[in-house]
Amino acid sequence: MSKGRVLSGMRPTGRLHLGHYRGVLANWLKLQSEYECFFFVADWHALTTDYADPKAIKENIREMVIDWLSVGIDPKAAAVFRQSQIKEHAELYVLLGMITPLSWLERNPTYKEQLSEITGKDLHNFGFLGYPVLQTADIIIYKADRVPVGVDQAPHLELSREITRRFNHLYGEVFPEPATLLTQVPKILGTDGRKMSKSYNNAIFLTDEPKVIEGKILQMVTDTARKRRQDPGNPDVCPFFITYHNLYSDEPARAGAREGCAKASIGCIECKRSVLPKLIEDLAPIRTARAAIEADPSIVDAVLKDGGRRAHEAANKTMHDVRRAMGLE
Ligand code: SF4
Repeated sequence: MSKGRVLSGMRPTGRLHLGHYRGVLANWLKLQSEYECFFFVADWHALTTDYADPKAIKENIREMVIDWLSVGIDPKAAAVFRQSQIKEHAELYVLLGMITPLSWLERNPTYKEQLSEITGKDLHNFGFLGYPVLQTADIIIYKADRVPVGVDQAPHLELSREITRRFNHLYGEVFPEPATLLTQVPKILGTDGRKMSKSYNNAIFLTDEPKVIEGKILQMVTDTARKRRQDPGNPDVCPFFITYHNLYSDEPARAGAREGCAKASIGCIECKRSVLPKLIEDLAPIRTARAAIEADPSIVDAVLKDGGRRAHEAANKTMHDVRRAMGLE
């Protein structure tokens, strides 16, 4: 029986943090044993916003793939590759571009949101507007039947499904419609209480040493209304509680912290120190694995080469079907 095929990718942003690990990679670890997985580095997607300064992309790819391998992504189980290695993505992107109405792209909520949110870069480009078309090509070129997405991202896949339907309607049933594989993504907040992100400078990186982690956690914002030790706090608005007690504490420990906070019988330092060793312990094996991978620079190249070969085989097969369906062969 076919295991089903999963496709997922990440933009190369360099070293990864706890948000990537618990939000995405922990899920990939499960998926790689349940499905045939294709995990790709979305380096062309990185260019939709970083086209003017692509220098960092090469090193970012390497760092990111090392992190993937360090957390346990198994390149024998999953094909790990760079999007730009597989030129067929670009061919399919061009063909899908022919059939995608402009209005579908212009009404895309992410497009509008990012245009207003990302400042300092001119994003009024064809590539940025068209990125959902490239994203669709990335998915359907592997005839992936499942794409893992968090609940709030489910609408993003809808456009890909629409483009797929349109292709199948015009040229025959070449592609399965990609289904969402809804995943529970824990809320991972950074040291300043905002979503954990490298660009906010609030992240706990997978490469951080215990002393660095400790420093960041002890400085992390808590319930801002709890100004003094004797003030009762509210764990429900405390970014530390929301993230770390929920990730690492069992129910009795969470209940204890909740009560201690609400009655001001524990201070924030004590509360944080009760979780800190578990966080450090969680990340320690990742750092050890990274050291071994960094010691042999050929590992990443070999992984991408083999993953690229497997991805290319699948993509090439699909493109034969596409060309035949469109009368291009
Ligand atoms: S005691 Fe714990 S839960 Fe309460 S505000 Fe401080 S860090 Fe947050």
